[in-house]
Amino acid sequence: MSLIFKTKVYEARDVLGGKVSAWQDEDGDWIETGLHIFFGAYPNMMNMFAELGIHDRLQWKIHQMIFAMQQLPGEFTTFDFIPGIPAPFNFGLAILMNQKMLTFAEKLQTAPPLIPMLIEGQDFIDAQDELSVTQFMRKYGMPERINEEVFVAMAKALDFIDPDKLSMTVVLTAMNRFLNESNGLQMAFLDGNQPDRLCEPMKQHIEKGGGEIIMKTPVKEIITKDDDSVDHLLLRTGEKVFADEYISAVPCDIFKRYIPKNWANMPYFRQVDELEGIPVINLHMWFDQKLQAVDHLCFSRSPLLSVYADMSVTCKEYYDPNASMIELVFAPCSPIAGGNTNWIAKSDEEIIDATMGELARLFPKEIAADEKWPATKVQEGKEGKARLRKYAVVKVPRSVYAAIPGRNKFRPSQTTPIPNFTLAGDWTSQKFLGSMEGAVLGGKLAAEVVANRAKGNANKPVKEIQQSVIDVASTHVAKEPAGVKGDGAIAWGGGASFSKDNKDLLLEADPAQFTPAVV
Ligand SMILES: Cc1cc2nc3c(=O)[nH]c(=O)nc-3n(C[C@H](O)[C@H](O)[C@H](O)COP(=O)(O)OP(=O)(O)OC[C@H]3O[C@@H](n4cnc5c(N)ncnc54)[C@H](O)[C@@H]3O)c2cc1C
Repeated sequence: MSLIFKTKVYEARDVLGGKVSAWQDEDGDWIETGLHIFFGAYPNMMNMFAELGIHDRLQWKIHQMIFAMQQLPGEFTTFDFIPGIPAPFNFGLAILMNQKMLTFAEKLQTAPPLIPMLIEGQDFIDAQDELSVTQFMRKYGMPERINEEVFVAMAKALDFIDPDKLSMTVVLTAMNRFLNESNGLQMAFLDGNQPDRLCEPMKQHIEKGGGEIIMKTPVKEIITKDDDSVDHLLLRTGEKVFADEYISAVPCDIFKRYIPKNWANMPYFRQVDELEGIPVINLHMWFDQKLQAVDHLCFSRSPLLSVYADMSVTCKEYYDPNASMIELVFAPCSPIAGGNTNWIAKSDEEIIDATMGELARLFPKEIAADEKWPATKVQEGKEGKARLRKYAVVKVPRSVYAAIPGRNKFRPSQTTPIPNFTLAGDWTSQKFLGSMEGAVLGGKLAAEVVANRAKGNANKPVKEIQQSVIDVASTHVAKEPAGVKGDGAIAWGGGASFSKDNKDLLLEADPAQFTPAVV
């Protein structure tokens, strides 16, 4: 039975992509919400690229992971995946062959706690959600040094937080997905800006099928009937949208602001209170000359930074043979993310200065000691010549859901208790984490719920709700939904450079972002 739906997508912003969106500055340079990497272990994303006929837009890098050496500025070490060796042996061998990160004894001590993951699979993985990475390590006698050597890099890259804050389920889920496929950890960069190279073909595909994408049109309110089903969506324009089925794909922090009053005591919707987005900062730094470039993603393993890449080498559209543009993820960046300093509340100059200090360590022979950036003085060598020409700081106050211990059980199923309303988004329950792959899979699962219903089949079940949530829901005092105040990327769960206006708006809507660090 073939089903034909007429789809209408309402997007609040003037650009598609949400946390994968990008825009141009006054010089025409692209500013991205985040440095985005695609993995071999993203099957749904890869299917989507194939369906859109744009697979050639992924620039695959050699199968390797590159880590900066904290104690040896300017030096790197790698996990090298040997072609032809199947998973998970290629990963085991890559770790065994690396001589700089762990001793042989430490490697032997690390493996046994991970074996149940390979044998028992998802059940073992899910059962570890109450433990942080550090708690898991200590419980199972993993060597302490694996934290500094491997888990810090993984935790910051996977959820922008440190291992003592991150749920072990996240690390195990990632390992399990990556270890199941021989090219699971192979990484690709998109060959250019995300709106043109990725979002536009998606838009054209929807339009070709008779659908519509309506930009700059936020949903203001979900209006319900007496039986709790959705009657219509009220847009900010005042227009009412009536449909057979409604799917929400907004981030969890935004969704909380839309839950209608008569849904507020339903445990399904109350569980969303247990989830919140984690802050992160994405930086673009243009230098006046070429730094020693690696055509790959690098794990900095430094206190302030997560991953970075020289986009003048890794991405075709940003290619520049004469000067580097380093894009970096700055994490953990605030107390909510487990950091010691609230960088979200700090000025762009302070953030860039701190980053320049870290870059001076990563590129000791190249970054000049620059009086404009006092942190570069940590660099002893005087031979560095590269100076920062321009920068952009993109703050994402609420990015992917914070995967701190115990959160997985609160991620809602795409099926809701409302007969014509379905949830999507990377934070809904699916086996990938808060990631692009998770967003694609969440969307596919939501589409399955709708298609299933249209075929007259029984609904897929609503995921089990925790007793603690059921208890809270029964005494919750229902209120009219708060709605979203203001406009702009940050209001809609994305990222932007701070101006006075969006900073004031954030201060009003989300004051926790400005909580000073407890030192
Ligand atoms: C710095 C950074 C780096 C990242 N790196 C990676 C990476 O390397 N690999 C990876 O896989 N993932 C990465 N991610 C995560 C990835 O970006 C997200 O998991 C994914 O984009 C989430 O998609 P989503 O559709 O669920 O949500 P979003 O991208 O947040 O999309 C939600 C959309 O809803 C719109 N919206 C909100 N409210 C309304 C409303 N009321 N009416 C209409 N529209 C509304 C928003 O404008 C937005 O377009 C990164 C994220 C960040 C911030």
